[in-house]
Amino acid sequence: MLTISGLKARVGDSDILKGLDLTINAGETHVIMGPNGAGKSTLANVIMGHPDYVVTHGSIVFDGEDITDAKTDERAKKGLFMTFQNPEEVAGITVESFLRTARFAVTGKSERAWDFHKELLTLMERLDFDESYAARHLNIGFSGGEKKKNEILQMLALHPRLAILDETDSGLDVDAVKTVSEGVRGYKNEKNALLIITHSTKILENIKVDAVHILVDGQIVKNGGASLIDEVNHSGFTALTPSKSIEG
Ligand code: ADP
Ligand code: MG
Ligand code: MG
Repeated sequence: MLTISGLKARVGDSDILKGLDLTINAGETHVIMGPNGAGKSTLANVIMGHPDYVVTHGSIVFDGEDITDAKTDERAKKGLFMTFQNPEEVAGITVESFLRTARFAVTGKSERAWDFHKELLTLMERLDFDESYAARHLNIGFSGGEKKKNEILQMLALHPRLAILDETDSGLDVDAVKTVSEGVRGYKNEKNALLIITHSTKILENIKVDAVHILVDGQIVKNGGASLIDEVNHSGFTALTPSKSIEG
């Protein structure tokens, strides 16, 4: 589904991604872990085509099509989606109208407002959102946890083929992590894929992880299975970074 080859990217004057390869197949769940500033969010933004991030080398192929230079809205139409580490507050647009507009932008199909409303209420219930939130302005006055759950609500409403979750679980209390984790599990099927950027194992409970990648200083320094998560939590990232451990 997604093949990233030799990817290098910069933000402003800084080279952040320094030659990165990653392949994700349909049906798979991948996890990326790494220290702060390693380039995890940069990778997510580059996959989505955020204009601040410039690819200087390598390619991104999605469903057989080279999207390295595609615009963000084209990528979204192809089924790429990401949640934001710090969701923005948007005055003047309600959660419901935002989601309806976003879904129309992605699918190009118009839907009856009432049908969409009913579906939205079902999804909101699944995420423990009171239905009054549908009429609230996007993220205004939302708690950190509510903003993150709202990102998952977007994912469930948009049915992306590949969803990238950028630290969606950080800042959530245990109950909210459980709710988010259940929402993620409800999204996942054999045809779509997940890329989860996280520091914690809690969100991964009950989610089958196919591969774990450790990103340090713009490069993937180690690949492994689900057991790598425990290894990292036990030993930290430094032990997994060859150059750093040689330097002492
Ligand atoms: P991570 O998500 O792994 O913590 P990031 O990808 O957010 O790391 O950041 C990697 C590096 O890129 C950091 O040094 C950060 O300051 C820099 N960076 C990321 N986004 C921007 C941006 N929009 N403008 C300037 N620097 C950025
Ligand atoms: Mg960070
Ligand atoms: Mg980040």
